[in-house]
Amino acid sequence: MMKSYKYRLYPTKAQEEAFAQHLGCVRFIYNWALETKNKAYIKDKTKMSFFDLSAKLPALKKENPWLSEVNAQALQSSLRNLDNAYTNFFRRVKQGAKEVGFPKFKSRKNKQSFQCPQRVSLDFENGKISIPKIFEIKVVFHRKFKGEVKTTTISKTKSGKYFVSVLVEDSKVLPAKPKIDPKTAIGIDLGLKDFAVLSTGEKIANQRFNEKAAKRIAKLNRKMAKQKTMNKGVHTKNREKTRVKLARLYEKVSNQRDDFLHNLSTRLIRENQTICLEDLNVSGMVKNHKLSGSIASASWSAFVRMLIYKCEWYGKNLVFIGRFEPSSKMCSDCGWTKQDLKLSDREWVCQKCGVEHDRDVNAAVNIKTFALHNQNLIKEKIPLHERKSTLGEIEACKARSGIKRNKTKAKVLAKHDEALLRIRDGENDTSKAAILEKTLSSDRVW
Ligand SMILES: [Zn+2]
Repeated sequence: MMKSYKYRLYPTKAQEEAFAQHLGCVRFIYNWALETKNKAYIKDKTKMSFFDLSAKLPALKKENPWLSEVNAQALQSSLRNLDNAYTNFFRRVKQGAKEVGFPKFKSRKNKQSFQCPQRVSLDFENGKISIPKIFEIKVVFHRKFKGEVKTTTISKTKSGKYFVSVLVEDSKVLPAKPKIDPKTAIGIDLGLKDFAVLSTGEKIANQRFNEKAAKRIAKLNRKMAKQKTMNKGVHTKNREKTRVKLARLYEKVSNQRDDFLHNLSTRLIRENQTICLEDLNVSGMVKNHKLSGSIASASWSAFVRMLIYKCEWYGKNLVFIGRFEPSSKMCSDCGWTKQDLKLSDREWVCQKCGVEHDRDVNAAVNIKTFALHNQNLIKEKIPLHERKSTLGEIEACKARSGIKRNKTKAKVLAKHDEALLRIRDGENDTSKAAILEKTLSSDRVW
């Protein structure tokens, strides 16, 4: 299977210049190709392919001799990347995606990279890597690999750090997946309050890395804006310093987030054979446009992506349920649905069986139940909505987190609801009024 390994590079001044030259040429080719393609289309609807553009390269190199000073294959790869960008764009259009993202011109200010598809050699012993035209670059190999090197990508972050990412074919076969067994399956509910709640009752808190750094980010942004106006938009050394500081801070936050997500996904995959999740159409899941929401959704998609490929690597099952199954509102023990459950209700009592639910744990248990039910793993004659939990999850949760069953409370709550309904329907029988009042007041016990 293909795996990629990423290492930090420590180039010398001369190597750094050679990198800059490569990055510049690759960006030039990408932007030239994008412009050529767009112009041809606007002129007479000509669609230029990768090969059409590639055929124009020799002439372009004659016009701009400096392009010949870098690895020719890196330039080819750049055309290939543009081609992929177009393919992905048309795929998104076809799928009817909300944000289709037309291929953009590349800027010097963003994260940059170039690829070397061939002739790369790694020296694990001396910590060196050589690519065409640039030799013996110092690299820290924090882990080794065995296999055939496919593509090597050199990248430069916004804060000026260099990395190499090596794609390796290790000719190992993906492990087979075990049969799905409710006993070794887990349900996960992803949320805003806690990052994840498991069907075992465990809650994994949201780390809020961004919020912790938000003050410093805001401060640096203000400083940079001030430096910009003070120098009438001219890029000064001090402004560059602030920009690098800001970029470093963003990188730190995203590294912390990735570490957290990697640790969590690896742990869940080690501990379980089957993972059940809600199918996240993330853009639909967070309906507000608040910053916290967008950050959470970015983390969720990154987390789900990790689970998908790690399940393949380690031979585990991943089962998704539809987004519209009523996972929060349904009692995971008896199937009764609390129609009026509000987002603010963190705990609720089932009026049918009296189980006291933690909202998110109940949702996680339901996600597991639905997922296994959809796989026909819960063989029951009674429909799902009238079933008793067969998974023993509730019992396990009760033991762990002290979930209680309260029959009397359930009965009173049911009566309470009934009373409210009667009042709403305009029932004015005076003899019943007293009973209703009594029922309602007894609610105040809690
Ligand atoms: Zn119930």
